[in-house]
Amino acid sequence: MAQIPDVIVIGGGVAGLAAANVLAGQGVRVRLIEARGRLGGRIFSHDGPAWGAPMELGAEFIHGGNPEFDEFLTDAGLATRSAEGEMWLFEQGVLRRTPDFWERVARIAAQIPAAARGFSFADFLAAAKHDIPAEDQRLMTHFVEGFNAAPAGNLSAAVLRADHAGAEDPQKRLVKGYNCVVEALRRQLPAGQVEVVLHADVTEVRWEAGAAIVQVRSDGEDVAPLHEARAVIVTVPLGLLKAGALKFTPPLEAKDAAIQRAGWGDVVRFNLRFTPDIWRDEIVPAELRGENGATFAFLNAPGEKIPVWWAPAPRAPVLVGWVGGPAADRVMRESGNELLADAAETLGRIWKADPVEVRQRIVEWRWHNWRSDVFSRGAYSYAAAGAEDAAREIALPVAGTLFFAGEATAEPTELGTVHGAFASGLRAAEEVLSALGTTAGIVRGAPPSRRQSARGSGGSPQSG
Ligand SMILES: Cc1cc2nc3c(=O)[nH]c(=O)nc-3n(C[C@H](O)[C@H](O)[C@H](O)COP(=O)(O)OP(=O)(O)OC[C@H]3O[C@@H](n4cnc5c(N)ncnc54)[C@H](O)[C@@H]3O)c2cc1C
Repeated sequence: MAQIPDVIVIGGGVAGLAAANVLAGQGVRVRLIEARGRLGGRIFSHDGPAWGAPMELGAEFIHGGNPEFDEFLTDAGLATRSAEGEMWLFEQGVLRRTPDFWERVARIAAQIPAAARGFSFADFLAAAKHDIPAEDQRLMTHFVEGFNAAPAGNLSAAVLRADHAGAEDPQKRLVKGYNCVVEALRRQLPAGQVEVVLHADVTEVRWEAGAAIVQVRSDGEDVAPLHEARAVIVTVPLGLLKAGALKFTPPLEAKDAAIQRAGWGDVVRFNLRFTPDIWRDEIVPAELRGENGATFAFLNAPGEKIPVWWAPAPRAPVLVGWVGGPAADRVMRESGNELLADAAETLGRIWKADPVEVRQRIVEWRWHNWRSDVFSRGAYSYAAAGAEDAAREIALPVAGTLFFAGEATAEPTELGTVHGAFASGLRAAEEVLSALGTTAGIVRGAPPSRRQSARGSGGSPQSG
């Protein structure tokens, strides 16, 4: 497509791809500009036969989902499988099952007053500390900080309540990994209607009502590439907006305060592949291994250097380590070798084994530092206490010309999720259609969009 597009979408993650699909499906010419050499953004799967399962460096779970994303998965024929399984806890040197883990989370969340906007989860605990057993307080703080990638003192209690107080939607995984979602979205882009430009790092958006010019980093070229369109959808991660990495001319003064107030968290996750017979190896405590591999789905180890572990596919010789929220700050600054040493040390404590021997059984490991990744600058957003409306403010269109999508603009309980990002892309596309379609007649006749047909049912839990 050499001609000038109607709409430029900045960012080829789930939000950008979903938006491009809806727009192109309605006859709009789209140019999708992505800084990396790949699509998918914070969906980043890796595999290899030795791992025994698709492995993720970014998103792994479907946390409840929403009708729009569920419909997409069904239409695209992408199978999911339950991620439920035994929950274990390692605390004060003792390893035990916690079959009531999710009930405890829901029970504590339900104790948060519905009108607790502006209060953090730590505020709530301080007020309710006599009503909640100390062990539950520790467990819930460990869970919400890791899951939401947020300090308890900054995490909105009201949104936690909305997220966890009701019946939990089961967590699922994509059978063939999250990259299949990206691949399906890319395949669905109508041929000839969407031009995808990779390796194009947008540095500035110059705009006025009805027109925008998008400037891309020149990378040694004499003249920096410029792209123009009648509207732009911005889907870059909140970390870039906070850092001012994308310059808007004129600036988005009305949005800046919301961008700065919105919660933005860090996560370190890494994937360890062990010797093939690890689930028959006596270095692992007998209760954590069975005939079919790992007996546990998740193992929480509050206070340990690596406080959350899971077995993504019980038969595979693989474990994922997860550090989210304030605990991630320290780990974030470590070298890869230090992180691996922490992993061996924590597993050594849980398994009551020598860390050197644990380390000898790790044959491969992978991680991606989302904080130092210049096109992410952190992991995902969360609803901050007192800034519960920030996502809605960031999402507001500007002058019928600039539109905003991405997980940080999603519904409060869908912040930081793939399904939230997906729905935000559909929402932004609808906004563009109604702004451009009525003023310039560029919508070239197409069936009602997916978001309209799927709208109506409520939200769901969130990320981690
Ligand atoms: C470690 C980790 C684990 C997670 N686990 C889960 C999970 O289990 N379940 C879940 O639902 N969610 C999870 N998430 C969150 C989920 O991955 C995101 O919410 C979702 O993928 C965000 O999609 P997006 O389109 O909003 O943003 P992104 O996927 O970040 O897409 C934005 C795109 O913009 C591009 N970009 C950035 N700057 C520029 C620029 N200047 N010019 C051009 N392009 C640019 C980026 O390269 C990127 O491709 C996790 C995230 C992380 C980091």
